[in-house]
Amino acid sequence: MKSQKLYHVLIKTCILIVLYIPLFYSTNHLRNAGISETDSTVVEKYGQLRVQGTQIVDKDGKPVTLRGMSLFWSQWIGKYYNYDCIQWLRDDWECTVVRASLGIEPDGYLTNPIAEKNKVLAVIDACIDLGIYVIVDWHDHNAQNHQQQAKEFFAEIAKQYGDYPNLIYEIFNEPLQVSWTNVIKPYAEAVIDTIRFIDQDNIIIVGTPTWSQDVDIASQSPLQYENIAYALHFYAATHKQFLRNKAITALNNGIALWVSEFGTSESSGNGTLDSTETDIWMNFMESRKISWCNWSVADKNETSAALKSGASQYGNWSDADLTRSGSIIRGKIKSFNDPTSTDNLQVDFPLNFKLYQNYPNPFNPQTTIEYELEGNGFVKLEIFDIKGSKIRTLIDDYQPKGLHKVLWDGNTDENVDASSGIYFYHLFFIKTDQSSEFQNEYKPMVLLK
Ligand code: MG
Repeated sequence: MKSQKLYHVLIKTCILIVLYIPLFYSTNHLRNAGISETDSTVVEKYGQLRVQGTQIVDKDGKPVTLRGMSLFWSQWIGKYYNYDCIQWLRDDWECTVVRASLGIEPDGYLTNPIAEKNKVLAVIDACIDLGIYVIVDWHDHNAQNHQQQAKEFFAEIAKQYGDYPNLIYEIFNEPLQVSWTNVIKPYAEAVIDTIRFIDQDNIIIVGTPTWSQDVDIASQSPLQYENIAYALHFYAATHKQFLRNKAITALNNGIALWVSEFGTSESSGNGTLDSTETDIWMNFMESRKISWCNWSVADKNETSAALKSGASQYGNWSDADLTRSGSIIRGKIKSFNDPTSTDNLQVDFPLNFKLYQNYPNPFNPQTTIEYELEGNGFVKLEIFDIKGSKIRTLIDDYQPKGLHKVLWDGNTDENVDASSGIYFYHLFFIKTDQSSEFQNEYKPMVLLK
């Protein structure tokens, strides 16, 4: 009998161990990913955002990329400005930011200030409750003519919400082809002064000339305030490398960009959906850690709209409710939010360099990475761990055409705490010929001790 009891105890112990192993690994995985089990929302995790150089950073100074959706003009498709829809965008789409587009004119805030403002307030309240970031967008093409109204509106928003880290101001959606220095900048200074009198720190996004494309022009004469980002808007089937070149110029001049609106379509919001160019833009934004919102949460019959006609205003959308654009963007948000997703490592356009497998591989502790540039250009060579966290920038410089060799020592790198593991090296290359094309590629390597 005794030996039978002992046998049962042994079996029970084995069962407990088997049950405990996956639990141990799953919590360990969370810890390794830097996500504590008590961080229940993205705002609790990142907290008060700041602009540091060209980068949006979190409360600890770490770079942050937010990805989400823009709602449509509030006066025309305001039905999605509600709690349930925002909750669906957070939970099913994994949006970490939502943009509320306060339509100013025609038939917008200037005509019905209370009704339009209430739609935006509902979205802000929902985002605060749900723990995601919210962009309050003065959705106007002629804001310089409505400066007083903008100041009064943003003063009210700042008083009510300026203490919440969730809030991001966007004070001029898309200026037309007007002067940065004589029209947009004076407007921005007036509105920013009003906001900063009440709220000293939350990020303010400022539109740039030509429907928020001329970020290069803004970068030549930036605003003299803290925590300012500049709006870069693109529509993938219309705006291609020439617009990325403007972005590169702006970043090289040291300003931070925020793609507060972009579409997979032509600039009209309709026409062709360009998925290849959308991919190139996505890689561009990801490699530069530029936050983005896609246009738009709408069931309008146009290419850029994410929803088909009749999709519920309260979310709970099936795949059949999503347009092609909606389906692509939802997939992008989810895969980019997952640092282990292999989708992020794929490149589907030709390269202007050869990135060779490191040697030796596996290695301990040193390895050599070789690459050959087919032209002169800017090179960024970075090491990422398996969770997608960058642990080292090896090269961030202009380099000439030809073969380059870089040595990496896993032992002397203070960011490597694991004894062994899989790492990725990432080469990002912008060719400085007329095309200014950029390309990138990842390769895995194994540190084995
Ligand atoms: Mg504040």
